[in-house]
Amino acid sequence: MTADPEGPAGREGEVLARFAAARLWAAHRAPYLASAVFALNPVLIEAALDDTTGAPLPDPEFRAFPADIRWNVHLETGTALATPVPEIGWWLLHHVGHLVRRHASRSPVRPEDGGGTHAAGLAGDERAHRWNQAADAEINDDLEADDLPGPDGVISPKALGLPANRMAEEYVPMLDVLADAMGRGGKALADAIDCGSAADGRPRTYEDSGGGGGLSELDRELLERSIAVGIQDRISARSEVPSGWQRWAGERLAPTVNWRARLGALIRRGLSTVAGNTDFSHRRPSRRAGAYTDIVPPALVSPVPDTVLVIDTSGSVTNAVLDRLLAEVTAIITGVAGPNRRLRALCCDMHPHPVQTVRRAEDIRLVGGGGTDMRAGIEAAAGLRPRPDLVVVLTDGQTPWPERRPRPHVVVCLIGDDGHAPDWAAIARIPEEGPT
Ligand SMILES: [Zn+2]
Repeated sequence: MTADPEGPAGREGEVLARFAAARLWAAHRAPYLASAVFALNPVLIEAALDDTTGAPLPDPEFRAFPADIRWNVHLETGTALATPVPEIGWWLLHHVGHLVRRHASRSPVRPEDGGGTHAAGLAGDERAHRWNQAADAEINDDLEADDLPGPDGVISPKALGLPANRMAEEYVPMLDVLADAMGRGGKALADAIDCGSAADGRPRTYEDSGGGGGLSELDRELLERSIAVGIQDRISARSEVPSGWQRWAGERLAPTVNWRARLGALIRRGLSTVAGNTDFSHRRPSRRAGAYTDIVPPALVSPVPDTVLVIDTSGSVTNAVLDRLLAEVTAIITGVAGPNRRLRALCCDMHPHPVQTVRRAEDIRLVGGGGTDMRAGIEAAAGLRPRPDLVVVLTDGQTPWPERRPRPHVVVCLIGDDGHAPDWAAIARIPEEGPT
């Protein structure tokens, strides 16, 4: 018995066939991402039907086949049937970019920021949309470099005259200025495209319909490593891999080599996003910045940056390692936030110990021992008043973690190779022997 090709089952079969063809197209065009493309999990969403003809109606909200962090790609049947296979394939490569570059956990917009007002004065939705565009710019320049231009209306750093090879955090202020200038001319920067929670970390209502499928945190960790190893193998065999992907693979496989630089960048990013993207001093100006000098930048505010250190004192991490690491971390925070930064420390084993307000790392008293539950420490830190901008967790990762991201930005200093930290956190891996 075959399904009616015009009925829902027939449409689903057709959409899955198009997805399979799009995956092959993508793996053929970018062989260095083949294993990533084949790890994507299709989730079908039934289209609304035209009242008179009964034909499925493409919904523009699903134009990008939005992804979530479990590597699910959402195929709304009306859109999937109306989109050419190579265009679907291009979006698959694009979403792999959002996923392995962890745009959801880097997003400056918190899931609960629904319609709230952001420090920079834009509504949460607008900030999320701008972040989505900046993350798209970070991905699309690499695709363009591999002769894979995006469909009409997607962000292209080249077409907008922006420099290539920048991070999404750097593209946000550039796009703000550009959007303002183009808006005065009555033009939009690009189409309003939503790449899903894989881009901005805010869950979507349609995601639950997938039945909870997709990759677990451990699956994702192993997959990313194997993609990076595959890319390095291709480089060794002198196959073509775009430079952006070469850099990504190198960083993914040797994250501890340059951990001080990475930790510094994560702390700087954490403190600048919470302050409303105000600290641009470390960013090199765009080559074309001169073209926009008549445009007033967004108002700058400078609150006192407020950090809480959550320290795993459970006994599996030695005090000698913690002491050296604390000295490094506080020096980085002071370097980023200035001498007036507020610094508190909270030791945690199974339970959080009383919070200590300190000036220097040497002032921190390490108390605790026994089992580990960093959930309790992170929850206590997030609940402190005044509310911290940034929580830095020092741990070997042998602990349960909160399921949902807490409100403050969280950076995890993960000591050694054995532990893990959740997707919603920014992670710097520190060698087992600690700072030397
Ligand atoms: Zn995107």
